Amino acid sequence: MRCENLKIELDTVPSLETNDPYFAGVASHIQTCDICRAKLIKRLEAERSIKIALDTMAPVPETLVSSVINNTKTLRPVKSRWRKWSAIAASFLLVVGLSASSYSYWAHLQTQSALKRLCAISIKNHEMHSEPDFISVNAEQIATWLSKRLDRVVRVPEFILASSAVEGGRRCALGKYAAGVFHFEIGGKRSTLFSFYPQQFNVEGAVVPPKLDMGYTVAVWSEDGLGYSLVSEAPPDKVKALFVKAKVI
Ligand SMILES: [Zn+2]
Repeated sequence: MRCENLKIELDTVPSLETNDPYFAGVASHIQTCDICRAKLIKRLEAERSIKIALDTMAPVPETLVSSVINNTKTLRPVKSRWRKWSAIAASFLLVVGLSASSYSYWAHLQTQSALKRLCAISIKNHEMHSEPDFISVNAEQIATWLSKRLDRVVRVPEFILASSAVEGGRRCALGKYAAGVFHFEIGGKRSTLFSFYPQQFNVEGAVVPPKLDMGYTVAVWSEDGLGYSLVSEAPPDKVKALFVKAKVI
């Protein structure tokens, strides 16, 4: 397998020794590719450092670290009000340094928290709404209906075509944005797919492979510029199999 095809897996594989069949491709690739193996080791080490730093700190305001990185010369404990934050920022800098790659790992963590939030609001919406507003077994018809109602393009994702029974669609408020929703089944289990623009949730280019979250299987990915989040009552293995079939990632 070519290295660039494994970019997403290299960014998301949780460890060098994972047994997760989803990461089998990247796990076998790093046995033979020293470059990817070295990249992965570096990523895991940096993430570990940042986690240690974050665990030992009070909650850090979202803007603090970026402002620190942009203004390191002014980083002096001047007023008592700021002393605490400066100390926290300094300890953070000690651990992660100021390299671009550290900053990108920090940005990576920001994306992770945006993904977490997106999964949580998707699950909540799935729990609260089980009935579609527009009933149809034809996914194209649902996409057309949604495109008209939302006044933007909603495409039928490959994933829906790979699943079995399509039931209908509706519009919803996902966070503060309007999203298109497909209702369908995976192996007879109720599933909800949300369609939005990835920029709306700060999850551009980010992927959550199918995993258990609050008792549901959730996943997030992008396809042709549109973002999708999935909540399914089917087990992760069933959803993973569909990901493979639909060539989602
Ligand atoms: Zn490689």
